[in-house]
Amino acid sequence: MIDSMKIREEFPILHQEINGKPLVYLDNAATSQKPKFVVEAMKDYYYNYNANVHRGLYRLSARATEAYDLAREKVARFIGATHNHEVIFTSGTTAAINLVASSWAQENLKENDVILLSEMEHHSNIVPWHFLQKRIGVELRFLKVDENGVLCLDNLDELLQNVKLVGLTHVSNTLGTINPIKKIAEAAHNVGAKVLIDGAQAVPHMEVNVQDLGCDFYAFSGHKMCGPTGVGVLWGKEEILDSMPPFLGGGDMIDEVYLEYSTYASLPNKFEAGTMNIAQVVGLGAAVDYLLQIGLSNILAHEEQMVEVALKKLSALDVRFIGNAENRAGVISFVMDKAHPHDIATILDYEGIAVRAGHHCTQPLMKKFSVPATARVSFYFYNTLDEIDRLVYGLEKVKEIFQRVS
Ligand SMILES: *Cc1c(COP(=O)(O)O)cnc(C)c1O
Repeated sequence: MIDSMKIREEFPILHQEINGKPLVYLDNAATSQKPKFVVEAMKDYYYNYNANVHRGLYRLSARATEAYDLAREKVARFIGATHNHEVIFTSGTTAAINLVASSWAQENLKENDVILLSEMEHHSNIVPWHFLQKRIGVELRFLKVDENGVLCLDNLDELLQNVKLVGLTHVSNTLGTINPIKKIAEAAHNVGAKVLIDGAQAVPHMEVNVQDLGCDFYAFSGHKMCGPTGVGVLWGKEEILDSMPPFLGGGDMIDEVYLEYSTYASLPNKFEAGTMNIAQVVGLGAAVDYLLQIGLSNILAHEEQMVEVALKKLSALDVRFIGNAENRAGVISFVMDKAHPHDIATILDYEGIAVRAGHHCTQPLMKKFSVPATARVSFYFYNTLDEIDRLVYGLEKVKEIFQRVS
């Protein structure tokens, strides 16, 4: 099990007061905090072996290259990739999805081909497909979300007709719902569609094995899993990545360049044009080591307990939950009768509690549930049961204030 108090020593940022109260950080779905271990790994790179990778024949560059390649190997093992070169470093989930849209989809899809998404997608798994809708006239179709925030899959086979790509979030960043990826991927493959999974909310919190899920692409961000901003991953099956044209052209992604034409490097370099975020890649490798040391099953179990306790305690406070899936991760969205979510977040901030209020980059979902916004609390392994009590105390304040107002 997780010893949160001991773990918190690794996170200097958590030991501060906001408005005279100890900080309670409950916005982990937006970004996680960073342990010393990760910050130190990046510091070590900058202090001791900062150099560009794959270029120099000198010692520092060799060391930087080694660290860069090792990080790729760690990530590959972490998600169960078959080959290290199936891991492409990007700047984040958004960039990874855009890579698939601009390369694979642009190359393989034509007018009237169908892309199946869902109503619970993050904007970064909607807007890139809007681009393609405009550019090549693909049709977008959406899996519906029911009143509990669960995907309706009754008519999946029907919806899959003419579908060439299924793009789906593994875990909803707004509802907390964990989607049955394996089952959907199987159905998608039966009609010959490719499957792209947005794993931004899954990889930080549970064991993810891309082989086991049976998807073709998997995208996630470093900064939500204790790593730095500016780095993320696109995993893809070797043969698919091999067949795809490069997305960005420039240094490092070439084999040979003539004035008239150029040829491209093999994987993974083909998709890593220009100088990459080397320090951040090193930091991501360290984050993987750190999470493995704590144990993904421990992290999941801790968050399950946090959610169970939080749901029970919040239920007593007249909140309405947006999303009631049985199979859920450590994310709770809710609204209150009289208080706007922004008021909730502002009042909680007075109490030193950081929660998010807004549409969480899922505007279609807000429309679906007829709310302008939600308040969202999202846990990580360094959160404690005491912090849930602080949250409850803060929400009682919110209730009090708004009862007085009306
Ligand atoms: C955060 C998030 C994204 C976007 O990640 P970036 O790091 O901002 O690129 C995409 N999808 C989901 C589900 C997310 O939670």
